[in-house]
This record gives sequence, structure tokens and C-alpha cells, in this order.
Amino acid sequence: MPSVSASSPPTRIKLWGTRGSIAVPGRETLRYGGNTTCIELRADGELIVLDAGSGIRPLGVALNQEFQERPINLSLLITHAHWDHIQGFPFFKPAYDPKNEIRILGFDGAGATFREIITEPMRSPFFPIRMRELSAETEITKLTEMKFSLGKVNVHAAFVNHPGVCAGYRIFTSTGSIAFLPDHEPYEFFLHAARGQPLTPEQAKEIATNEHARLVQFLRGSEILVLDSQYTDKEYQTHIGWGHGSVSSAVSLALEAEVQTLLLFHHDPSHDDKVVDTMVESARELATKSGRPLQVTGAQEGRELLVEAKTVVAA
Ligand SMILES: [Zn+2]
Ligand SMILES: [Zn+2]
Repeated sequence: MPSVSASSPPTRIKLWGTRGSIAVPGRETLRYGGNTTCIELRADGELIVLDAGSGIRPLGVALNQEFQERPINLSLLITHAHWDHIQGFPFFKPAYDPKNEIRILGFDGAGATFREIITEPMRSPFFPIRMRELSAETEITKLTEMKFSLGKVNVHAAFVNHPGVCAGYRIFTSTGSIAFLPDHEPYEFFLHAARGQPLTPEQAKEIATNEHARLVQFLRGSEILVLDSQYTDKEYQTHIGWGHGSVSSAVSLALEAEVQTLLLFHHDPSHDDKVVDTMVESARELATKSGRPLQVTGAQEGRELLVEAKTVVAA
């Protein structure tokens, strides 16, 4: 793992899509954003993109403007196959330029290989241009290890509690670490880990407790945690088993894992800016009540955050 050095340039993340499920552009979502999941991360000479929701389209436009004639070399890490995490890729302009190199990495899904997850949505009749017709040098890599590196950046992966196969990633840079769990439901409420197995409630509880402890360990001490908090606590009561978290479950996981900054993420398409404001406010109250130094913020499209020498600062 790279050692933290005060002289390293800061790690920079920029949020290009913060919405869950489906894009909801409009006046009511202007501040938190309407695009689905996509985050750009730059650290230690690497350009890493987290998920390819509709937010990857404006990212592609920005990259083309920045790089002009220079080649773009990037890694795209995919958490899972749900539409809101892959639907933007066919509209990612850098994929249509032969000077660019794009590595796409992720795990096999439930009933589909990782290659199928990326290529099938671009087949006729769903899309007019096939994956192999993209002119950038594109490499699809199925992940098989839970620890790997992208240049000087180390990445740890963990499977999380979400229908099908869904990964979370923790990215270790020379200035700190960012954990990315856009879709995750708390283990303690939804015993997903025990699904389909003939277990007693006690056995299921034990599995859930162990899985939760494993996840806390995975996240422990992250500078930034980007976490699914799709529902208000009240809404969650009628959405148990849907694969998403709530405000209080997100805060309690962040507190338990002693992260520095929690980003409430994967906003519900039915939540306008005012509702998200209220959720952020109640998350902050819970953090304050705990007496611990957790910072909470609502993920806003277009916002940038820096991690400098293990400290999160606004860009
Ligand atoms: Zn999602
Ligand atoms: Zn999902």
C-alpha cells in the first residue's frame, strides 16, 4: 500500500452522477443532480472511473475537452450490472477515439459473465453500435481477486448486500482511501446472506452479524465513504429487502467503521432537493448526537472533494 506523504498531490474525486435507479433531470433535482452513478477519481497518476451510469456522459465530454489531442488512459471499475451503473457507457465519447485506452473491470454477475454485462446492452436491437466496433483500445477484465492494483493505486473489493452480485471497492491512494458502496442494504435488517439456504433464524442472524463485522473491517478508517442511503428511515420500513440503505443505517455504519466523511449517495428518484436536504440534516444530527467527529454531506453532482495527507477538504 502506498505510504501517506504530505508531499503527494491530493487525491481528487468528482461526482458526475449521484442518483440511484433512474436518471431524473429537472428543476427539483438541480442541486443534488439527476444523473445516475458515476465518480471520477484521480490519484498517483491514475484516472479511475467508478461505475458508468448516465453521469459518465458529461464526464466523457469534459475529458475530451481537457485532453484534446492527448490520449486518455483510464480504468473503469464497475460495481454491478444494474442499469443505473452501466447505462451511460455507450454514450462515453472517449470510447469512440482510437488514441484512447480504456480498461473496464468488474466481477461476473448472477447468470452473466462480466464480458456479457458490458457487451450485451450494446447488441442489436438495444443499441446500434457493437462493443467491438468502438474505436478506443478497450479491454474488458473479469476480476477474480479481491485485492488488485491499478498502477500505483491499490484496490480492495468486497461483495455487499444487494440483489445479484454487487461489489464495493476501497481505493487506497498515497494520500488516503475512498470507499465506494453505491448499492448496499444493511445486513442486520435484511438477511440476504442467508437467502435460499435452509437456516434457522438464529443461524441466519449469525451469518448477518459476521458479514456486517467483515464489512466494518473492510471500511475501517476510510477518509471518504460513498454509501447507499436511498431511503428515509420511514421509507425503509416498506422497502426491506430491496437492496438499499437508509439514513440512520448509513450513519451507524460510518460511525462503526470510524470513517472521516460520509457521502449520502444513490438518491431515490422520487426525492427532490428538499427531501435530500432533510435527510442530510437528520444524518448530521445523528452524527452530532454520537459525539464523534464524523462529517456528513449529501453527494451533489458536479462537486469535487480532495484528500490531502489523510484529510478530506472541499475542492
Ligand atoms: Zn443502483
Ligand atoms: Zn443495484
